[in-house]
Amino acid sequence: MTEPGAGDGTRAVRAGLPEPRKYEPTLPGPVFAAHYHLPGEPSGPYTYGRDENPTWTLLERAIGELEAPDDPEGAGTVVFASGMAAISAVLFSQLSAGDAVVLPSDGYQALPLVREQLTAYGIEVRTAPTGGDAQLSELDGARLLWLETPSNPGLDVCDVRRLVTAAHARGALVAVDNTLATPLGQRPLELGADFSVASDTKGLTGHGDVLLGHVTARDGGRLAAVRRWRKITGAIPGPMEAWLAHRSLATLHLRVERQCANALALAEALAGRPEVTGLRYPGLPGDPSHPVAAAQMRRFGSVVSFTLPDRGRAERFLGELRLVDDATSFGGVRSTAERRGRWGGDAVPEGFVRFSVGAEDPEDLIADVLRALDAIA
Ligand SMILES: *Cc1c(COP(=O)(O)O)cnc(C)c1O
Repeated sequence: MTEPGAGDGTRAVRAGLPEPRKYEPTLPGPVFAAHYHLPGEPSGPYTYGRDENPTWTLLERAIGELEAPDDPEGAGTVVFASGMAAISAVLFSQLSAGDAVVLPSDGYQALPLVREQLTAYGIEVRTAPTGGDAQLSELDGARLLWLETPSNPGLDVCDVRRLVTAAHARGALVAVDNTLATPLGQRPLELGADFSVASDTKGLTGHGDVLLGHVTARDGGRLAAVRRWRKITGAIPGPMEAWLAHRSLATLHLRVERQCANALALAEALAGRPEVTGLRYPGLPGDPSHPVAAAQMRRFGSVVSFTLPDRGRAERFLGELRLVDDATSFGGVRSTAERRGRWGGDAVPEGFVRFSVGAEDPEDLIADVLRALDAIA
C-alpha cells in the first residue's frame, strides 16, 4: 500500500499489489476457481467462487486505495460484473418498500428502467436535474439521494458537499455515480458521500474491452448488504476481467492526465467554431459547471459534448472523422463520438454529439475534428 501522501501516479502503479514475495509475480495472475479446497468446518476467506475470489480481493483493495487514499483500510470496495450491477446493488440493497429515493432526471440512460423496477417494488421514486440544487426540495422523508456528477451526457455538475449536508440533516444517505470522473477526478467519500459507485467499463479500465463496476463505502454494515446482494444476484465479475482491470489501473494516471488535457484542448478548439453550439466541458473556465467542478474535482474528465445544427450535419461529421470511431460508451484510450439522439431517451437535440476524448496526440485529433467540421460546412 502506498503512503497517504503519495502522488496519483505512484498510487496508480502500486494500488492493490500484495507484499513482494520471492519468486512470486508483482501482480498475481487471475485465479480461476469455482470452489476452493475446504476440508472440515467451512470458513473464509475463500469458500465458493460466487462469494469471493483472490483476484477480486486485490482489485477491491486497489480501487479502495484510489477512492479513499487517506484511509484505505477504513473503506471497503465490492466489484461487480458491470456498472449497472453496482448501481442496482446499492439501490436494491439499501431501499425497501415504502422508502423514497431521489434519482437524477438527466442521468445515465438506464436509470428510467431502474426507476420502473423500484416503483414495482413499492419504492417511491422522485427525480431532480443534476444542476441547480433542485434535489434540496425533494429530500424530506427520502432514504437515499442518488447523484451523478458530472452527469452523462449533459455534463452538468452538482455541489456534492452541499447536497450531502442537506441529505444527512434529513437522515438520507447519498450515493454518487463517479463513472465520468474516475477516482482520480473526484473522490465522493471525501466529499461526504456514503457510497461511491461507478461503471469501470469506462475510464477506470479505459480500453473499451471490459465491463465492470464497483461500490466503495466506509460503513461496514451497509457495504455488507451490498456484498450480500452480489452473492444473491450472482452479479460477479469474471476473474479475467478483474485481473485486466487491475492491470489497467497501472496506467490510469497516465491515461486520465492525457485524456483530460486532450479534452480541454478539443473544447477550446470547438469554442471558436460557428456551427458548434451548447459546448460543454466542466474544465472550460467559461462552462456553467466550472465553478462547482473546480471546487470539488481534481480533473474534469474525458467527455466533451456539443450540438451541431441538425441530425444530418452531425451524422456527416461523425462519418468524416478518421481518428474517431462512431461508437457509444466513453473513457477509452481511442477517441469515440456518437450522435446521442440515435438512442432516444436522453433529452438532447438531434445534432447533439457526445465526444469521448482518447489518448491520441492532440494536434492530430484536433486537426481531424476541424477537418471534419470544415467538410460539413
Ligand atoms: C455506462 C454507465 C453506467 C452503466 O455501466 P455498465 O458498465 O454499462 O453497466 C452507469 N452510469 C454511468 C454514468 C455510465 O456512463
